[in-house]
Amino acid sequence: MTEYDFADRVERVSPSATLAISNKAAELEADGIDVVDLSVGAPDFDTPQNIKDAAEEALEAGHTGYTSSPGIPKLREAIAEKFAADGLDQYGPENVMVTPGGKQGLFELFQTLIQEGDEVVLLDPAWVSYEAMAKIAGADLKRVDTAAHDFQLEPALDDLTETVSDETDMLVVNSPGNPHGAVYSDAALEGVRDLAVEHDMLVISDEIYKEIVYDDVEMTSLGTLDGMEDRTLTLNGFSKAYAMTGWRLGYFGAPEEIVEQAGKIHGHSVSCAVNFVQHAGVEALQNTDEAVVEMRDAFERRRDFLIDEFESRGVDIVEPKGAFYMMLPVDDDDQAWCEDAIGGAHVATVPGSAFGTPGYARLSYAKSTDRLQEALDRLEEADLL
Ligand code: PMP
Ligand code: GLU
Repeated sequence: MTEYDFADRVERVSPSATLAISNKAAELEADGIDVVDLSVGAPDFDTPQNIKDAAEEALEAGHTGYTSSPGIPKLREAIAEKFAADGLDQYGPENVMVTPGGKQGLFELFQTLIQEGDEVVLLDPAWVSYEAMAKIAGADLKRVDTAAHDFQLEPALDDLTETVSDETDMLVVNSPGNPHGAVYSDAALEGVRDLAVEHDMLVISDEIYKEIVYDDVEMTSLGTLDGMEDRTLTLNGFSKAYAMTGWRLGYFGAPEEIVEQAGKIHGHSVSCAVNFVQHAGVEALQNTDEAVVEMRDAFERRRDFLIDEFESRGVDIVEPKGAFYMMLPVDDDDQAWCEDAIGGAHVATVPGSAFGTPGYARLSYAKSTDRLQEALDRLEEADLL
């Protein structure tokens, strides 16, 4: 039997918990069991028709070869225009890298800017892949808890101030946030700016849920703040706002030197994002506003439905202001709760401990109200609520 000698970089990380649980749900489904899958963060809507048509047209027009590595000029220009419309006018087309999914963009940023022993700070609960990507790059992680503050950053600024130092290389901010749906206040972002400038840190601002905000909340992009223009790396993608998870299309905006250096990782790994998908991305950015708002409104109605239902059961939940996740407080042993939920009630959720915050289960509510009702009924029946 051959013994394989695996590289440290894979031995120090675990598989993605979000994907592992949705795989388990898919296996149960394959065995004929109906699972309400509230695990993976994926809109239940089909991609808007105009985007699908644009992909077909691009295929017909023969856009099937490699593209320029950082992306087709038309898409990089459209992304720069979107950034500018959001006040991020420091990013011209040359500051944009188009990637196969936002995940690949984040991975490239970590690989480009973080090496063994560098310090990366995460705000807990934090999306599962930040920790893995930082560790693969060799980072030492520090974590600041926001769960004690209803997932808000502003009241956690003192802790963040104590945690970061001149040794800190990078902070990751994700608002609206996965797994909690919190939108950080302007004062919180200004606090981040002050610390970033004082300690000369880079900040990744993961804005993949930017279009999905509720209650007329205004979401400020960190990179628009004075002093943050050239130290913010802004990540975004098409998966969530345009219901395009399977298309694998994302991007980041960054200072040109960073795009150039990341371009080496990009060119030597993925070459480029899929050609006709990039053409569809232009259509998504330019002609899909109405569908984005319709989906956002549906997520908001589902959030309201769940909040009311939990409230009527006496379950206290922090109301999310964006994204499509909420954190359900469960037993301390959230892993066991989630196992019971999938095994006994056939409702798939993700344990909070996967995000650094035990005692919760993350629910992704990008599902129809009927399915959410079904999930509640099943959890209640199994005595899990
Ligand atoms: N950031 C966050 C916070 C996410 O939840 C996701 C979802 N996978 C991503 C980035 C990356 O998404 P994608 O690779 O599908 O663009
Ligand atoms: N971001 C989504 C989630 O948290 C998709 C799965 C993943 O890429 O982790 O469920």
